Amino acid sequence: MRASRSLLLAVVATIALTVPFSAQAEDPPQTGFEQNGGTAWTTHEEELAFLTAVDSMSDRVAIEVIGTTDEARPIHLVRVGDPAPRTAAAAAGVPVELHVCSQHGNEPAGREGCLQYLRDLAFTTDETLVQQLRDTVLLFVPTANPDGRANNSRTNTAGTDINRDHLNLVSPEAQAIAQVVRDWSPEIVVDHHEYGPGQPLVYDDEVLYLWPRNLNVDEEIHDIGVEFSKDHLNPCLTDEGYTSDEYGLSAVGPIDVTQTAGDGDEGIARNAMGLRHSVGILVESAVSPNPAKPTEVIAAENMKRRVASQVSTITCTLSYVREHGTRLVAAQAGSITRKIAEGRAQSAPVYFQGQDEDTTVAGDAPETIADDTPPCAYDLTGEQLDEVGETFLLHAITTQPRGTGVRVTMAQAAEPLIPLLLDPQNEDRKAVDGTPVDDCGGSGAPPPDPQPSPQPRPVPPPAPVPTPPLPATGAPAWLAAAAAASLATAVGLRRLRRR
Ligand SMILES: [Zn+2]
Repeated sequence: MRASRSLLLAVVATIALTVPFSAQAEDPPQTGFEQNGGTAWTTHEEELAFLTAVDSMSDRVAIEVIGTTDEARPIHLVRVGDPAPRTAAAAAGVPVELHVCSQHGNEPAGREGCLQYLRDLAFTTDETLVQQLRDTVLLFVPTANPDGRANNSRTNTAGTDINRDHLNLVSPEAQAIAQVVRDWSPEIVVDHHEYGPGQPLVYDDEVLYLWPRNLNVDEEIHDIGVEFSKDHLNPCLTDEGYTSDEYGLSAVGPIDVTQTAGDGDEGIARNAMGLRHSVGILVESAVSPNPAKPTEVIAAENMKRRVASQVSTITCTLSYVREHGTRLVAAQAGSITRKIAEGRAQSAPVYFQGQDEDTTVAGDAPETIADDTPPCAYDLTGEQLDEVGETFLLHAITTQPRGTGVRVTMAQAAEPLIPLLLDPQNEDRKAVDGTPVDDCGGSGAPPPDPQPSPQPRPVPPPAPVPTPPLPATGAPAWLAAAAAASLATAVGLRRLRRR
């Protein structure tokens, strides 16, 4: 009898011990990084378990697979909303914020910050955040380069730098992101990176940021990117306890340091997103401890600082969208309308190189090749269409049958991308040598699809609608200002006639 009682007591004791465990099991899940105290990055397997747990414990989260890497790892999109995440169809007119995390696999802090943040949103009781989850759409691609992360490499397995691939879309990773951008039309896209440790003398800030500098980006989208970076993110990060500055332009003490990090490459996410009517923002957390905070020498503490600074960039993006969401929605709609009109009127110069602040770049003066009268369309052969068909679908570029090939009108939402992909002059980035068409006879500019969406190709031509020509608008004001500034340093923007 005595033995049985002991057994019973032991059972009771075991139950008593397990009760707190049960309670803990209902707590929000932790990333691998959090569980190990910041001593090691979350592994791929830990991430899968974490996402599964968040998904199953919260109605606010939906997780879908948007692609598969060469090494067969899934690329995830995590949607967050209250009481449940919206569908893309229900997101029309609603501000959509997308965070793309750790495209470069050896820059892991952004991924950790995104994983933590999407979990925190899923379980938050903060009234402001809950309201934001009702009023807006929050999207995360928490690991944009799963193979690169697993292998601790910048590129994917094939050696492609994903963050140069957002125009041509060769890699499955860039294709996955392009699909999200096509389906959700996010108003703002924040691309999370890290810098260093090789550049401690070039930059000394804990966070660097940059906007879409490509010259073909709509002026308002560009200007909002600058405003977000300089007037919101910078002071917001100061409030969060981090120093920050512009990437590609640096001052170390009294010495101005310039380099080409801030170029206009149309394959870089912030530029490509701008060309797709989204405010594309790059953020980089410093891998090296801030020289101004020399006490941060403990590895785990430094890793936690890197992650925490990434978390702060998300916090600051949310506060901007709360304040300016309506304006962001209007700006995107305006960008699309303006680019369609420019394409129809053949009024916008096409820039194959250059950036908004050429004068800040030391060394090579970039050659900006612009076109005074851009084509109204490009003609492709059937063979060429086969080569670019998948890219067209992902960028929502529409075509019209023409003979044995197709015509790609510039009078569509994807106008900024079309010459970059199809013009023989864009030697570095063109996908095929399209044939520029100078005169579309008034019918080459069909009314645009107001809601860009994937369409089977070729697309039947809509009924031609005569449209009055729009006045040529010339270069945007910010470009004129940059060009004027460049005169002083002889780094001029050269505008050459196309033919
Ligand atoms: Zn990077």
